[in-house]
Amino acid sequence: MAQARRPRTLRVLHVAAELYPWVKTGGLGDIVAALPPALLAQGIDARLCLPAFPAFLDAFHLTDAVRLATPFAAERVRVALATPPGSKIAAYLVDHPPFYDRSGGPYGSADGRDWPDNHRRFALLAWAAAALAGGADPNWRPDIVHAHDWHAGLAPAYLKAEAAPAAASVFTVHNLAYQGSFPAGVFPELSLPAGFYGLDGVEFYGGVSFLKAGLAYADRLTTVSPTYAREIQTPEFGEGLDGLLRLRADALTGILNGVDPTVWDPAHDDALPQPYDIETAEAGKAAAKAELRRRLHLFEGDAPVFGVVSRLSPQKGLDLLLAALPDLTAGGGQLALLGSGDRDLETGFAEAAAAQRGTVGVEIAYDETLARLVIAGADCIVVPSRFEPCGLTQMYALRYGTLPLVRRTGGLVDTVVDATPARLRDKTATGFMFEPATAEALAATIEWASAQYRNRASWRQMMRQAMTRDFSWAQSARQYAALYREVVG
Ligand code: ADP
Repeated sequence: MAQARRPRTLRVLHVAAELYPWVKTGGLGDIVAALPPALLAQGIDARLCLPAFPAFLDAFHLTDAVRLATPFAAERVRVALATPPGSKIAAYLVDHPPFYDRSGGPYGSADGRDWPDNHRRFALLAWAAAALAGGADPNWRPDIVHAHDWHAGLAPAYLKAEAAPAAASVFTVHNLAYQGSFPAGVFPELSLPAGFYGLDGVEFYGGVSFLKAGLAYADRLTTVSPTYAREIQTPEFGEGLDGLLRLRADALTGILNGVDPTVWDPAHDDALPQPYDIETAEAGKAAAKAELRRRLHLFEGDAPVFGVVSRLSPQKGLDLLLAALPDLTAGGGQLALLGSGDRDLETGFAEAAAAQRGTVGVEIAYDETLARLVIAGADCIVVPSRFEPCGLTQMYALRYGTLPLVRRTGGLVDTVVDATPARLRDKTATGFMFEPATAEALAATIEWASAQYRNRASWRQMMRQAMTRDFSWAQSARQYAALYREVVG
């Protein structure tokens, strides 16, 4: 009798520019750290392909290396295999110091300007991924290249440029607003076939878009929530790419991000004065709130604290919060904001804090430890985004028993249950939502949340409900694994 064949373990190479905790500018770094281990638990053999930024080279133990001939350097480029400390996921580091060994951020200098050679820096990353698919490492060859965001957008294009692509490709959009757009003049430097510069290729409004390359050439597309997957097919959210996304609707899926419980767990969080679980949440959160108030010079008392941990960018809608701030404080609330980015918003919030000491506390910084204290110590986390592909802070907040107050958009819709009278009655509510992107709508919802806050029994019930929501990566990883199996047939 013929023996049943066991399905071979699928090999998936994740190509990305960030990996928490070494390189992170936003949610992407968290996801690239959490998804591959979750895939491993689903029987997927996952590896990473990253630029060899100094933070990785300093921290990782490097082992084998291969050398690649590429169009981006006269010499062969070393691709080293490395093991991130504490991780089971091996990473290929594309080690070309003239491209990646710079102080500053992964995409630009410390003063916020993009590196002028970003097209070459991220073309090389994608090229290396395609070369690994082509067998550059004789010991490990991926079946699927999974590219994340525009930084990896050319990987599907390089694969498709071959007569017989060496691997299938999946492209995940973590944020459609960041497109990796360059002038048309860079195209010859990318070593793509001439025909790839066209309407159905990488050309976008007379330039080159790395994001569009991923959208056009990947076998499958995903984004990070079901609602955002629908929204980006409309002109309002499509950033000029909604036509292409509608064309590729059959290839597009929304898979919600998860929360890594080894990183975000109030019961094991060193940043908190008194870690807590669902049973001890009231005392633990009270201790965190007191500590947060000390840190940001807020008055003690029974005022609800509205917290923010965010990039200060137009996307995040914090201009709406700045405009609604007089209502927030007039209603007896306090603000604890941690963020950095847009200069006008930084100044606006800093001035509000100076004018309302004790009621408005602001720290203009990027600070992982304080972020945890805000998420644990606040009563509500405010996420007034104009658009939000998935959003992680509201999911972290739910786990920490802090109720999200969010705009009705993208992944916020998929993760928060609005405290309408009906949802309060059936005890499923976990947060608060407003719809129009106006300060008035936000202020009205802050007022509603403040009123709910004074109803302690109902608030406690919402906290419990929030803390029991399951946003495990296992669920997301199962969906990715199913997609991988489909794409390789
Ligand atoms: P985005 O990726 O658009 O910035 P997400 O909500 O998906 O938004 O992810 C944001 C991540 O960055 C979260 O982990 C959040 O805690 C973190 N973060 C944002 N701003 C700061 C800050 N100023 N200090 C520390 N962490 C921050």
